[in-house]
This record gives sequence, structure tokens and C-alpha cells, in this order.
Amino acid sequence: MKKLFLITSLFFVFWGCKNRTEKPVIDKSKDLKVNEFAIIIHGGAGTILKKNMSDEKETAYKAKLEEAIKVGHTILKNGGTSQEAVLKTIQVMEESPLFNAGKGAVFTHEETNELDASFMDGKTLNAGAVAGVTNVKSPIELAIKIMTDSDHVMLSGKGASTFAKEKGLEIVDPSYFYTERRFKSLQRIKDKAKTELDHDDKKAAFYDADIKNAKFGTVGCVALDKDGNIAAGTSTGGMTNKRWGRIGDSPIIGSGTYANNKTCGVSSTGWGEYFIRSQVAYDISAQMEYQQKTLKEATKNVIQNKLTKLGGTGGVVALDKNGNMSFEFNTAGMYRASMNDKDQLIVKIYKE
Ligand code: ASP
Repeated sequence: MKKLFLITSLFFVFWGCKNRTEKPVIDKSKDLKVNEFAIIIHGGAGTILKKNMSDEKETAYKAKLEEAIKVGHTILKNGGTSQEAVLKTIQVMEESPLFNAGKGAVFTHEETNELDASFMDGKTLNAGAVAGVTNVKSPIELAIKIMTDSDHVMLSGKGASTFAKEKGLEIVDPSYFYTERRFKSLQRIKDKAKTELDHDDKKAAFYDADIKNAKFGTVGCVALDKDGNIAAGTSTGGMTNKRWGRIGDSPIIGSGTYANNKTCGVSSTGWGEYFIRSQVAYDISAQMEYQQKTLKEATKNVIQNKLTKLGGTGGVVALDKNGNMSFEFNTAGMYRASMNDKDQLIVKIYKE
């Protein structure tokens, strides 16, 4: 009897120990609030090299990034919501011809501008997205309206424009989005594709070559407000010479944008097809939630390991519930900025 009691007790002690060791080890030092509020933005990633950039252009980009992030930072500092901060910050970049979003968006093969955007609220996990609109001045505003004022997550094309009109959003003539610089880029890419390709498989290879030569330039923002709510948004013209109604990752929740108060918020920029297949933004959040990775570990793993192995190029800006921030990209540069609750501002373009 005594023997049986001893064996049973030993079994339970062993079983208890085993179970304890199987539980994930949560490092509490990783869970400290470093910023009461914070904001991080990008203005696109790609082959951005110092040798190809004039001092004037560099100054203009840095000034616009600073202007945009300060708009959102002031909102957060005054106790405003992360949603408002993301909206207003992205709108500054949408209105600037420097970025591939809103005015200054890249051209499609048919020489039009088709805009995509998305937004996610980390508190409620509500989201809104729009794809392929041609006459709505602020696609990020429309994405938020779709979230707040419709039963849907994603609207596209004409229907999305009709919804925008009904909700009183600013409608512009499509020529508003025109910039000579982007129009010339399209012509260059078209000419290059024509001369480089073997005549026989011209049609099949055409789109592929265009995509490879395309420059990126989407804008995105992630913010954490004083109430601990994370919001993320992304807005883009997509990729130069896109055709057949191509939609990239930017309006896709989980790829271009993701936010969850339990983990982090993410906005992506890069070669959209790869970001969709990798579910980049959600994967970062999932690695934090299920593998207890830090924001830095998760962003690094997804961009430098998983996305790179697949052949994708681009990057993300991300921010976690404690106000940690991360820029991660595998391209030569990414227009980017961050600002914390101590008013510390970082504005960068190239790799360190
Ligand atoms: N990700 C965008 C797209 O594929 C492009 C970009 O980030 O510049 O549409």
C-alpha cells in the first residue's frame, strides 16, 4: 500500500514538473512599457541609394516625413486617438507628390492612377480597406469610413467611389493625382520592357519585367495612444505599370496592415505579391502572440528570414503595445521616421 502511494506520488510530481516545463517561458522583462504613446511611419522602401539622391531631394523627403509624423505626434500628445493620428499623418503624405500615395501615385499600364488603402483598429480588430479607386482624394479616409460606416471590410472600384460620395468624402478629378515624374517613370518602364523582351513571349513576360523594375513608395503609419490603443494604416498607388486591376498587399488586412492591442501594429511596403503570400503583417503579430517573440525578433524573422527566402523585397514599420518600435527592411533604403513620448525624433532613409 505504502509502495503504491509512493509510486503514485512520484508520478504526479514528475507529471507536474513535465507540464510546467512545457509551458512557454514568458520573460517579464520583455513586457515593460517604454513609451506611453508613440508613432512610426514609412514612405516606401526600395532601391533608394545615396548616390542617386540629390541633397535637395533628400532634404525634401526628410522634411515631409518630419512634418507628417509631428502631426500625428501632437494628436497623441494631446490625448487624441491613434486612429486620428494615423489618419492625419497619412493624409500629409497622401497630399505630397513625393510619395506613391494620393497625389504622386504611380501610373497603371493604362496611364491611370488606381489607389489602395487599409486601416485597422487594434482595440476592436475592426478594419476597413479600399482597392482601385480613381477619384477619392484621401483613400485612407475612405478605408476608415468603410470600417466605421459600412457592414464591410473591403470595397473596390466604382462601388467604393459611390460609397465615398454618399458619405461626403472629397471627390477629385482623376487628373489631381497626375505628376510628371511618375508619368515619366511609367514611360521608361514601358520602353525598357519593349526593348528587352523576346518578341515571342512578350505578353507573358511583360508584366513580370515591369514589376521587377518598379520602384516602391507606399506610405504607412502605426500609432499607440495614451489609452493603449494601437492603430495602423497604409495607402498606396500600387506598383508602376500594374494592369488588369492588379491589387497589391496594401489594402489587404494581415498583409499590408494589421493591428492588435494584445501584440502590435504593422504597416508594410514592398513587392506586394510576396507580402500577400507571406501574410507579413499578421505573421509578425502571430509570432509575438504564439511564440512570445519580441517585436524586434518577430519583424526581423518575418522580413530578413521568411520574406527574403521567398524572394520578396520591402519592409515594415511596427510598434508594440509597450511602445517599442521597429523598422525592418531588406532593401537598400526605406523612407522612415519615428517619435516617442519624450519627443525624440528619428528620420532616416538609407541603411545605417
Ligand atoms: N506594396 C505596394 C504594392 O505592392 C507597393 C509599395 O509598397 O510601394 O502595391
